[in-house]
Amino acid sequence: MNFEYLLARTELLFGEGVLENIGDKVSKIGSKSLLVTGKRSMSRLGFLDKTEGVLKKAGVEVVRYGGVEPNPTVDTVNRGAKLALEHNCDVVVGLGGGSAMDTAKAIAVLTGHWKEGATSIWSFSSLSEEKKVITPRTLPIVAITSTSGTGSHVTKYAVFTNDKTSAKPGIGSEFMYPRLSVVDLDIVSTMPPVVTATTGFDVLAHAMESIISTASNPISQLYALEAIRMVYKYLPRVYTKGDDREAREKMALADTYAGWAIAVSPPELPHAMSHPISGHYPDISHGMALAIVTPGVICLNVEKGHANILKKYSLIAQNMGRSVSASYNKEDALQADRAVKELRKRVDLDITLSKLGVTEDKIEDIAGDVLTCNRGAWKNNPVQADRKEIGELLRQCY
Ligand code: NDP
Ligand code: MN
Repeated sequence: MNFEYLLARTELLFGEGVLENIGDKVSKIGSKSLLVTGKRSMSRLGFLDKTEGVLKKAGVEVVRYGGVEPNPTVDTVNRGAKLALEHNCDVVVGLGGGSAMDTAKAIAVLTGHWKEGATSIWSFSSLSEEKKVITPRTLPIVAITSTSGTGSHVTKYAVFTNDKTSAKPGIGSEFMYPRLSVVDLDIVSTMPPVVTATTGFDVLAHAMESIISTASNPISQLYALEAIRMVYKYLPRVYTKGDDREAREKMALADTYAGWAIAVSPPELPHAMSHPISGHYPDISHGMALAIVTPGVICLNVEKGHANILKKYSLIAQNMGRSVSASYNKEDALQADRAVKELRKRVDLDITLSKLGVTEDKIEDIAGDVLTCNRGAWKNNPVQADRKEIGELLRQCY
């Protein structure tokens, strides 16, 4: 067995009220911050003012950049980088869900490379003609997560949508690992049920996909199996009772474990299919799109996958409370599909594409984008589904 494992240089602060402790740490990273956040939640709940206060007290200047939309666009990133340049910011702080954190990470990349002639984050995408390389010029990143979630606070990725083509690719580099990562339970505890459910499903998807991915390895698998066990136990609990602090803490931990797992063993087909769904329909959240497509991919992989895939799905099923036989056969592996569907129902994510307003004629566009715009994740699936099969999988969720 051969594999590589890069340990990120990310300092993680985890627990209740830890936002209070970031001032001195950020002041050692930079003196002027661009503080990136979403539309309303963080300002409404007082965490934006609080973050600004903590930073200023430590002598770090703050320039605010708010209004980042769910499934952020290239334009949103580019405008943020211009602001960071105008104000000579030397550190980028993301406060919010994956959308705000990814935008902060992408702004850090673009700002750091502006003098080298990069004027749009798109030029770093593998879909662009330039295919610019991300270097250590990337500004240092601080990620404060408000969801549990994307794992973006500990990963090297950022995902954004091209406003013109609806393509939603990701970029990734070791220089995009946040220097400081903050999981404050007071912040994530404010998620409303629907955000808890959709982002919690994203955790499950990361953990499962990092195991099934052709890039899987035994170390990431350790994190991932534990994350699956925790999501299965605690997501329905925190969905029905948002003030269950123990369940919140476990989901925040599971998010972090699954983030570490995908950072080295990136996701596969469900992510490749979910990105074009949200790319074409930005109102469909990332987690919702994953909940729709995941069971179909499990069934395809079980049907066509080798014995080691059956074993992996059987282990996943076991960590979701199912009993499986020692032979890890097809029936055992399919328990993973049943467990995922059961969990999906318990958190009210048992939805179809048509109910969410996807029109039938868009299915082919989405299927096409899986193979072009999200080819990396598509390739990580152990079974190489062709365009026709992907179209069929999407129609099954219609
Ligand atoms: P978002 O950041 O898009 O947030 C979703 C919604 O939840 C927003 O309306 C936001 O409101 C609200 N919200 C967030 N936190 C809270 C809170 N604590 N209390 C109340 N409301 C809240 O959701 P995700 O975290 O799921 O991020 C999704 C994005 O991350 C997608 O673009 C996805 O592709 C990407 N992603 C990135 C990964 C990575 O490794 N970088 C991995 C997986 C996904 P408001 O805007 O008002 O703050
Ligand atoms: Mn995800």
